[in-house]
Amino acid sequence: EALIEIKGVTHAYQTATGPLPVLDDLSLVVPEGDFCAVVGPSGCGKSTLTRLIAGLMKPDRGEVWLHGERVTSPRKTVGMAFQNPVLLEWRSILQNVILPLEIVAPSMPRRDRIARAEELLSLVGLDGFEGKRPSELSGGMRQRASLCRAIVHKPDVLIMDEPFGALDAFTREDLWQTMHDLRMKEPFTALLITHDLRESVFLADEVVVLSGRPATAQYVLKVGLPQD
Ligand code: ADP
Ligand code: ADP
Repeated sequence: EALIEIKGVTHAYQTATGPLPVLDDLSLVVPEGDFCAVVGPSGCGKSTLTRLIAGLMKPDRGEVWLHGERVTSPRKTVGMAFQNPVLLEWRSILQNVILPLEIVAPSMPRRDRIARAEELLSLVGLDGFEGKRPSELSGGMRQRASLCRAIVHKPDVLIMDEPFGALDAFTREDLWQTMHDLRMKEPFTALLITHDLRESVFLADEVVVLSGRPATAQYVLKVGLPQD
């Protein structure tokens, strides 16, 4: 079953020098439970695509569907992670991870929220760091915490825009393994924007290559999960 369906989406930004076409008649399906990577050169419209799926923008033409519903406004059922995690410095790591639950599930008992956040932090190897402030953690650890925050409320899909792009090569590969392990324990549908072909092949079930100006999905590679 399709979780994300992009149907013939065309979009241009209005700029001072006229319209800048970014996506042209783009169609794409991400099946429920799959991990889909989107690769393509800088400026080809990858971030634009994530904003359309999250309902933060409307396309000029075409439709975006999420879990059988047309997306026309911002979605709480989308978890997002970015290259530079935005964690609140005045909150502990645990309190940062709990934040989406406070918004989406205000009636959930406090102890259940804490248990859920602790469970995820433990899955990504952050036991013992729950009470630290974000600035007390390394970049890789902050990204781990931000991934927990993005999925704590069990969104329909986790959208990641270059989440490992700012990390050194060793930390980045650690995080690939963490992401892989996390998905074994806590299955979710994922859309990963990346420049890194090795990363896409390691993590994704399928890789969508965006190319052309404006971009259309040119082809989809099925890669399958890595064998352990
Ligand atoms: P990518 O994520 O693949 O690098 P983006 O979706 O960020 O690409 O951007 C696609 C193109 O649209 C780029 O040329 C970028 O400069 C332009 N662009 C992105 N956001 C805006 C905006 N808000 N206004 C005008 N142009 C934009
Ligand atoms: P990552 O690979 O997550 O970026 P680092 O390579 O920077 O983490 O750190 C490796 C290990 O060092 C961490 O897994 C953690 O056990 C420990 N560490 C890093 N920063 C701190 C800190 N501020 N306090 C205590 N231990 C830390």
